[in-house]
Amino acid sequence: MKTEPAISASDMVQISFFGATNSGKSTLVNAIAGQQVALVSDRPGTTTDPVRKRIEIPGIGPVLLVDTAGYGDEGELGAERERLTRAVIDTTDVAVLLLSGHPADALWRQLLEDDDIPVVTVNGKAYAGGEKNTTQEHFPGKNVRGWQNFDHPEALLRRIAAAIPAEEERFLTGDLVRRGDTVVLVMPQDSEAPKGRIILPQVQVLRELLDRGCVPVCCTMETLPEAMTKKPDLVITDSQVFKQVDAAIPADCPLTSFSILLAAVKGDIDTFVEGAKALDTLRPGARVLIAEACTHVPDNEDIGRVKIPALLRKKAEVRFDIAGGNDFPEDLSGYDLIIHCGACVASKSLVRARIKKALRAGVPITNYGIAIAALQGILERVSLP
Ligand code: SF4
Repeated sequence: MKTEPAISASDMVQISFFGATNSGKSTLVNAIAGQQVALVSDRPGTTTDPVRKRIEIPGIGPVLLVDTAGYGDEGELGAERERLTRAVIDTTDVAVLLLSGHPADALWRQLLEDDDIPVVTVNGKAYAGGEKNTTQEHFPGKNVRGWQNFDHPEALLRRIAAAIPAEEERFLTGDLVRRGDTVVLVMPQDSEAPKGRIILPQVQVLRELLDRGCVPVCCTMETLPEAMTKKPDLVITDSQVFKQVDAAIPADCPLTSFSILLAAVKGDIDTFVEGAKALDTLRPGARVLIAEACTHVPDNEDIGRVKIPALLRKKAEVRFDIAGGNDFPEDLSGYDLIIHCGACVASKSLVRARIKKALRAGVPITNYGIAIAALQGILERVSLP
């Protein structure tokens, strides 16, 4: 029976390519992918939005290659390219930086290193005069004269593989379950649930429980009493019905939420629990940032935009800003608390980069599931993985 933790697409290693505009990033990405992923042109600034490609690299596994727009271009469009390029840093596991003699090369290297991202440097096109240049150091054993050397990126791939941070894989359900345990999963199918399918965190937990030899029992709030005819070893609920589930099950029955399980794997549960303490100190007029890792069309049952603000306003009349997808603010000063979503379709790197930014700015950060449990007075009773 398979018992390894599942890897979702969002947990693929992300390798991002940075460098001045027209330093040859797209050429290199295409050489590694073995196909035309990005548009290549000698005209500076051909790439504007980051271009993403999922590929399997022997010796590394599934990876997401991201070709960024780059930096060093003048004008409004250049500034926008830089903004989009900076946003890629948050999700990067390994950066490949093409050095081309551009004055901003050192600054970007510093930006990447400040975020603790491993940086693999490559000599790109010489910036002055458009001369094409790579060095033997980066591509040993090949004909190193000339740009065409990017047709042989094996040496670079070996360096990238060596730079990938080692990560201890862990189960979403951590040590909360053992083989043979009965686990009740409460999964409301309200208007926020996608039609005809089950959301990713629920699918991942369900699959993991099956892999670990547990007996999952799925239900909604309406069918929870039937699911509880035999006392389970654990109940995992959608955060939005935390309080109702807590009231409906025995007090000694372990309870947690999908969002908390995700927070432990993708974020830092201790930081989030610590951050939730700020919920008790918010005064009227305090500023709270609701941060979502993806962009989605909100509806009237949205957890971050509707339910958490409604719960919080019962304590204090605070002000909310919403940041969806890549719009997480660079400047966090002025916020009293950040409440982050479960990041179901986002990478660990993204959540961890945001936690780091929050802590650097001195702003407490928590996540939806923990905030809801705290606001409903049941955080103490919740099982943390
Ligand atoms: S990434 Fe965040 S906002 Fe997007 S669906 Fe998942 S939990 Fe919701």
